[in-house]
Amino acid sequence: MLSDQKPLTSETTKGPSILIIDDSDDDFALLSRHIRKRWVQASIVHGPSKSELINLVSKQGFDVVICDHSMPDMDSTQARETLRSLGCDAPVIVCSGWADEQVGIAAMNDGARDFVEKGRPDRLIPVMERELSTRLLILQKEQVAQEAIAAGRVDSLTQLPNLAHFEELMDQLNTQGGETLLLTLALEGLNRQRKSLRAGVEQSVLVEFSNQLKSLFPKNALGRISDFEFAVCLKPAQGQWDLPKCIEEIYNRFDQPFSMRGQRISLDIQMGSASNELCGNDAKEMLAHSGSAMRLARNQNLHADVLIDTAFHQRARRHQTIEYSLASAIQDGELQLFFQPVINLPSRRLGSVECLVRWQHPVLGRLSPDEFIGIAEESGLIVQLGAWVLRSSCEALKSLHAAGYPITVAINCSSPELSQPDFAGQLLSYLDEHNIDRKYFELEITESAALSDFGETVKILEKLHKAGISLAIDDFGTGFSSLNYLRKLPVDVLKIDKSFVQEMTEHEDSSKIVRAIIGLGKSLGLTIHAEGIESESQADMLDVWGCNRLQGYWISKPLDMTDFLAWLKADGQAFLPDLQKKRVAL
Ligand code: C2E
Ligand code: CA
Ligand code: CA
Repeated sequence: MLSDQKPLTSETTKGPSILIIDDSDDDFALLSRHIRKRWVQASIVHGPSKSELINLVSKQGFDVVICDHSMPDMDSTQARETLRSLGCDAPVIVCSGWADEQVGIAAMNDGARDFVEKGRPDRLIPVMERELSTRLLILQKEQVAQEAIAAGRVDSLTQLPNLAHFEELMDQLNTQGGETLLLTLALEGLNRQRKSLRAGVEQSVLVEFSNQLKSLFPKNALGRISDFEFAVCLKPAQGQWDLPKCIEEIYNRFDQPFSMRGQRISLDIQMGSASNELCGNDAKEMLAHSGSAMRLARNQNLHADVLIDTAFHQRARRHQTIEYSLASAIQDGELQLFFQPVINLPSRRLGSVECLVRWQHPVLGRLSPDEFIGIAEESGLIVQLGAWVLRSSCEALKSLHAAGYPITVAINCSSPELSQPDFAGQLLSYLDEHNIDRKYFELEITESAALSDFGETVKILEKLHKAGISLAIDDFGTGFSSLNYLRKLPVDVLKIDKSFVQEMTEHEDSSKIVRAIIGLGKSLGLTIHAEGIESESQADMLDVWGCNRLQGYWISKPLDMTDFLAWLKADGQAFLPDLQKKRVAL
């Protein structure tokens, strides 16, 4: 480090700053003359003794140091130690009259840059030129890095370009023409584990990972684009990595768990990719696409190999369009609520409706919730979507009751909604404010949502249950939950997943499972609700086995409010209680 002096910018505008450590005034004068012949503007300073040396180095920095080996109060090794202790990292060339090869080797082993015999300017000057130009390069690099840190363009932990800087680098690469590929890497395992790691371990892993990336891709543009995400830019036409090789190498390097300061780390890298040929030459657009591709691959449990597949990228583009337009869809009224009737057994009379959301997308057309609920959950927008569903279902309940159908509405609720602060309190106040009798309201929660934070979920559900809200476990049988867990949840209804119902007539195993769920559920005092009923024979079987509720296309597909009201007046007549039948007939 050049302590008080600015680094050299150019040899031509300013001469190098040189320190000569030598007890002999004559040798200093002779050496200075030789140096001045090469660098007229050189600043040459004499350090004849240890105290002089300390004094000089404390005050200023040097670009190169020439050091005699043997002096009355120190030798070159001690002189270098003194320099080091004062933070001077200028290259040291040992220059001694005592032409002992051993001295030279020892000096070099100890960190001196070279050893030159005194009185040999023909050797010394080229060595100095070499050292000064290396020094200049190092200083320039340091300066660029310092400027980048100062300008907030480099991540201070890993020294990698941050998102904004990486985007600039990608934009530059895009302007070079040809294909630019982007690979994004999310350290999902580290993100999951971070709370259980000792102080500093997470940072050490990130530094280690970035060092490995730097060594793997020394010529590529790299970046740390968020806390746990990194990115690599590839130019296959310039002989850089191609995507399949890159994916394979990353798996080879990082797939195995490793130990960091005694803690076991599993990075569990998720990858996404984008090409400017699909996304255009905009870095932001490529990063967004890569993110969507990564989430799609993760949600569908696909190996990163899919990233080289064009059809996959087309799906990822659709995924991205959905992600981007979801927020405005909620605001702009593109969502619609559909209603699917549920009948009670053995009466076969209408008891409730399940509210199911639909999205009429301006470009992609009608979207099924299976395509966007997962995306809404991931982005957090499910909270706004859920609020919309609650509002709309309460409006529907009121208009159905006003039309003379005192039925219950059931809405689906995802795990991020349950995690909202005071979810139960807010739901209850909403129902109260809108004069909704709680006994007409049911909440469906999937097994996995109920289990994601079991302790908390129990508390929320208990509050709702005590307040008179009916609670149903949706898609029962598809998750990991057992009836033992179920015992601890204050639920009222068990919805047997439609996959079992649909296989019931063909597969003996499925029919055994359904009968077992009905038996065990009923022994716990639960209402058993079967969904996905598509035929009368399925309805009959479930009726015989003691199932309490049926839902499915055999009764009706989900319908919008207009069609549902029309259904109630036509096909639904068969399922209406006598009292209502009379009322409708009037
Ligand atoms: P789910 O809660 O299991 O809803 C039942 C799904 O089965 C619905 O699909 C319904 O249309 C379909 N279905 C009903 N009867 C039959 C049948 O007889 N045969 C067949 N093959 N299918 C039948 P949909 O409407 O596409 O909804 C899919 C999933 O999206 C729902 O599954 C639910 O998990 C989720 N979802 C829908 N609306 C909402 C919502 O407002 N909020 C949340 N969080 N999730 C929702
Ligand atoms: Ca449901
Ligand atoms: Ca279900």
